[in-house]
Amino acid sequence: ANERESMYLVSAFAQQYFEDILWRSEPGKAIGHSYFKERGFTDETIKKFGLGYSLDEWEAFTKHALQQGYQLEFLEKTGLTIVKDQADGGKKTFDRFKGRVMFPIHSMSGRVLGFGGRILVNDKKAAKYLNSPESDIYHKSKVLYGIYFAKQAIAKEDNCYLVEGYTDVIQMHQRGVENVVSSSGTALTPEQIRLINRLTKNITVLFDGDAAGLRASLRGIDLILEQGMNVKVCTFPEGEDPDSFAKNNSYGDVVLYLEEHSMDFIQFKTSLLAKEAANDPIKRAETIRDIVHSVAKIPDRIKQEVYIQECARMLQVSEAVLYDTLAQITRKGI
Ligand code: ATP
Ligand code: MN
Ligand code: MN
Ligand code: MN
Repeated sequence: ANERESMYLVSAFAQQYFEDILWRSEPGKAIGHSYFKERGFTDETIKKFGLGYSLDEWEAFTKHALQQGYQLEFLEKTGLTIVKDQADGGKKTFDRFKGRVMFPIHSMSGRVLGFGGRILVNDKKAAKYLNSPESDIYHKSKVLYGIYFAKQAIAKEDNCYLVEGYTDVIQMHQRGVENVVSSSGTALTPEQIRLINRLTKNITVLFDGDAAGLRASLRGIDLILEQGMNVKVCTFPEGEDPDSFAKNNSYGDVVLYLEEHSMDFIQFKTSLLAKEAANDPIKRAETIRDIVHSVAKIPDRIKQEVYIQECARMLQVSEAVLYDTLAQITRKGI
């Protein structure tokens, strides 16, 4: 427990350090702060989310932290410092987030658990985003980016928007839509859904308008149904994500878009798959199974019935065959 406490302390120190660098150092101002400004973030927003900058030097952070009395052991355990053994038996240390703008990741209660770091210019050689590694204080599968800033709004609005990335959360927030969190690139987990489930039974999943993540995410959404939650989905125009959309539209237009384009998940999936399968009988059969699979995840029998009726209509098959399939799936427990 003491070890974890030391890791929390190092993480809080690092957050403050990266933030100070962003606001006070010349490269921080010229590179980091300008980057966030270009993305449309106000100073208030940058401060609120504790954003920072990590200098483009091999071990600026590590050296400073050691000078301030933090132990290498915890710098390494939090992943902030990468330690490499040398041929001569010595050790060499590197800052993991060298030259990146920094997004601290907070727990539900506001403690810094880890970081996401973004490169400034997109190039194919470096990963666009780098995250803290899994550690005793940072369990990726149990964390949602933005939950600390969103929790009150989620409860108040009785709905949670789930987006793909850090900047989506921040830009939506700045635009005035504060009930937003992100799983930050990883597939949604039951633990993450439970965090939301404590605050609301309603989730709206917002997909980038690039279709890439969409098909892969459909299965993950079954996990939300399994927890008895109501799921809607909303897609954005081609090439847009919630970040760009919120940046370029007024609060009123964002709210209107969300209202008009949010669709019940089962209906969304049914119409998407039905379109794809159109005239291919084998594909149609697979589609029907796939959708009934999702319906089988819903714990509420009455809701299941409503969906069966709706899907039968949309897929132009009899309710009886859907009920049979549902019974089969439920019996096999698959
Ligand atoms: P930006 O607007 O800053 O370019 P984004 O949030 O729109 O980024 P996407 O490409 O839509 O980025 O990816 C969504 C999320 O997936 C990111 O916010 C990040 O958490 C994660 N991600 C994206 N690319 C990578 C990568 N190369 N390595 C690790 N995680 C990534
Ligand atoms: Mn995307
Ligand atoms: Mn995106
Ligand atoms: Mn984006």
